[in-house]
Formats: sequence, structure tokens, C-alpha cells
Amino acid sequence: MKKIEKKIMEKWYLEILPEFSVLYDYKNKVTFTDFASAIEKKYGGDKTKHIIFLKNMDSKNLLKPVLDLMKNGYKKVEKKQDEGKEREFVAETMRRIYKQGLTTISGGNISFRNSDGFIFLTASQTDKSCIKAEQIIIFDQNYKNLTPDLKPSMESSMHLKIYKNRADISAIIHSHPIYTSTFSILKQKINTAITGEAAYILGEIAEINYALMGTEELADLCCKELQTKNIGIMRNHGAITLGKTLTEAFDRMEVLEFTAKINFNLLLANSEYSQLNDNQIKEILKLKNGII
Ligand SMILES: [Zn+2]
Repeated sequence: MKKIEKKIMEKWYLEILPEFSVLYDYKNKVTFTDFASAIEKKYGGDKTKHIIFLKNMDSKNLLKPVLDLMKNGYKKVEKKQDEGKEREFVAETMRRIYKQGLTTISGGNISFRNSDGFIFLTASQTDKSCIKAEQIIIFDQNYKNLTPDLKPSMESSMHLKIYKNRADISAIIHSHPIYTSTFSILKQKINTAITGEAAYILGEIAEINYALMGTEELADLCCKELQTKNIGIMRNHGAITLGKTLTEAFDRMEVLEFTAKINFNLLLANSEYSQLNDNQIKEILKLKNGII
């Protein structure tokens, strides 16, 4: 991409409303005047207030309409206000995960999908203890990286494939917490029937077979095992949690690690312990499902 194209693309919000993409087809079948008058009809005559969304356009097609708009006095489109907030929230959550001891400075990656379908993902090779908003990658709804200067996390494919598969979730956290990672190596499951919190928050945990980190194979395994479950232990690697919000995914990761630590202590204690019985678990699930 030429420098000028790149500069323009960075400044303009890359989305076009479908009715305009049809009308102004960028092959000069429709004049710019027709295009502009359609925009004015929809948004009124004040050019300074127009917001033109340019969507799904490759750079070659994008350049001309953007230049035409600029020449004709249209203001550049500002990025959505909340986009910065979303990047900041993802960065803040990543720093919180590190501070909580749930991952190392180089390990782990997290993402969030907003209501427009944009995905915000931590960049590769960043210090997770002090990651900043500008180190969060933005993907559009077609998984195109709108921040090409940032290198996506090595597990970006895992995040994107899960989002494609799970319309019901909006946040993914992958990290390497010490006790959960210990159980990813031990040939023993984490028992969640030990406290109400573990049974309520964790429920059934998916077991994800080993595959080399950063590979499509690992991404596919995670997708396969997390079709309905929201928590997975990745063999000889770490953990992954999904949620409707980043806070929910964070809560699941923290409770998972907390429960793994209790399980490990129980192993060390090497003594009898009381486990929640079937009726007690059923009662917790009823509470969870709002039945009682
Ligand atoms: Zn990892």
C-alpha cells in the first residue's frame, strides 16, 4: 500500500453503509454528486456533521471516494469515541490479569468483541504488566486488521475462530496461571464439586488436547471443545475462558485458578475431604438457572 493511501486509511473510519456502497459503486457509473446528494438526503446539508462510513473496501477502491469527499469539503470521520475506551479496557484487563499473578509478562492474550462486531486483541511481544491501549489491535467484522502496524498475538487465530463459532460470547482470556497450568500437566482433573463458588462459576471444564502454540491446529481444537463450554484447560499449556463480558471471562479465569490451587492443596494434604454431593450440586445449579 502506498504511503498516502495508508495515511488516509488510518484517518478514515473504514465502513460504508450498504445503501451508499451500492449507489456509489466506485466504478464511475454514478457520479460523486449523486453520491453526495444521497448522503445529504440522509444526514442533512451540513457537511461538517456528516459521518460517512467506508466499509469493506480495499485500499484501491477506497482512495478515490475518500479524496472526492475531502475535496468537496467533507470532514474526515473521527474514530468512534468508545473505540478508545474499548482498547483501554482490554489493556487494563490484561494488566489486571498480570497483577493478579494469572500470567507472565510475555504469556497470555485477551480480546473483546463490541456490539458492532469489532474485535480488540492484545498485540504480540508486549509486556503484559504495562500494556497500553495503543498496543491493542482492532479487527473489523471481516477480521481485517485495522491497525497494521501492530503484530497480532500468536494466538489471534484461536480468538478469531472462537468468535466465529460462538455468537453468544464477547470476550476471551487465554493465560498461563500456575496452578491451572499444573493441572494441565498432571493427569488429574480439577474437582469443582468442592465449593459453591467453583460449582456455580466453573461447572464443566473442557479438556483441550495438546497442539503447538500459535498453530491452526490448536485454534481448531479450542473451537471444537468450546462449542458450548466456556472454560478450557489446554494440555501442557494453560487455560482459556470465554464470557459475555471481559469481567465474566476474568471471573472465570480467577475462580478456575483459585479452585486449582485448592485442589493442589488437597493433594498436598493427602487427607480425606468432604465433597459436595449430587443434591447439593443440583441445588447450586438450580440457583444458577434461577429456578430457586
Ligand atoms: Zn499460551
